[in-house]
Amino acid sequence: MKKLFLLGLSGILLTACAPKTAKQTEFMLDTICTITIYEEKNKEKTADELIEEAFELCSGYEDMLSRTIEGSDIYKLNNSGGTPVEVSDDTVEILEAAKRYSELSDGAFDITTAPLSILWDFEGEDPHVPPEDQIQAMTEKIDYTKIKIDGNTVTLEAPVEAIDLGAIAKGYIADRTADYLRENGVTSAYISLGGNLYAIGSNSQEKRPFRLGIQDPKSTDGSIIGYVEVSDKSLVTSGDYQRFFEEDGKRYHHILDPETGYPTDNGLSSVTIVSDKSLDGDALSTACFVLGLDDGMKLINSLDGIEAVFIDSSNEIYLSDGFGKTIEFYDAE
Ligand code: AMP
Ligand code: MG
Repeated sequence: MKKLFLLGLSGILLTACAPKTAKQTEFMLDTICTITIYEEKNKEKTADELIEEAFELCSGYEDMLSRTIEGSDIYKLNNSGGTPVEVSDDTVEILEAAKRYSELSDGAFDITTAPLSILWDFEGEDPHVPPEDQIQAMTEKIDYTKIKIDGNTVTLEAPVEAIDLGAIAKGYIADRTADYLRENGVTSAYISLGGNLYAIGSNSQEKRPFRLGIQDPKSTDGSIIGYVEVSDKSLVTSGDYQRFFEEDGKRYHHILDPETGYPTDNGLSSVTIVSDKSLDGDALSTACFVLGLDDGMKLINSLDGIEAVFIDSSNEIYLSDGFGKTIEFYDAE
């Protein structure tokens, strides 16, 4: 018995049916992406034109950062056989951030898990639990310290063979998209790149901060368990319901423990991070999901300006120390 589930979206914008300036949805970055502009002061371009340009920007980043698109920086690195590769400034910035988050999480977050993710093949048509010996062989190719960066020259040294930015790229792209819209006069907008949300300004039509919902990990229709109110912030969720398959009654989700080679099994169902930068939120949501409640919460509480909502498999909710001070969590009505 096996069922395949794909692409649960984990963050939702809660809004009344106010008239919107402009909204467009595209399938991009392996997920459903939506940009909504509520208010802009650009004298030359319409809100629809700005959204189109923003999607072009996202598409350019996808061509640069995708593991599977031929000619991307990551494709070149993964096919370099350990020889040095020249990459863009953006790629260097993401790789440096990825290494930083690997250090901070003691290797729980590691983009060199790529060969293991490829083996598990969660995106494939008919994924199965791989043989144990192959899982163990792939864990030996994981070591973020073997990503060597010298200016714009990057080398993947043995035993590392491949990297995958699936756990961090959408965060970086959400930040660049928000920058682009702001630079072009957008003062109120909402960006959703799958589970990565970014609120620009506050909700101009409802005259209050944006309400960003956190999905109930147990819901099959995307209903929410609670929400936060934010302006100029990102909200990113990693969850065991976003991409998984079932085999013999057990769920196998897409976030892997680099130590064991298996999907993490630490009692967490989701981790949501609220931060100024979506890059931080994306890396940390994955890192904390692997670290588990105790170590993940410790890490979040050691970082300034970053808050987290952990939800365990019984739907218990755990909030980081900043809740009740700088930010509030509201139960779903
Ligand atoms: P996210 O949805 O941001 O938590 O990222 C999950 C994606 O990151 C997976 O689909 C894999 O491509 C990749 N991944 C899986 N496990 C890890 C890990 N421990 N560290 C970094 N990336 C991972
Ligand atoms: Mg992530």
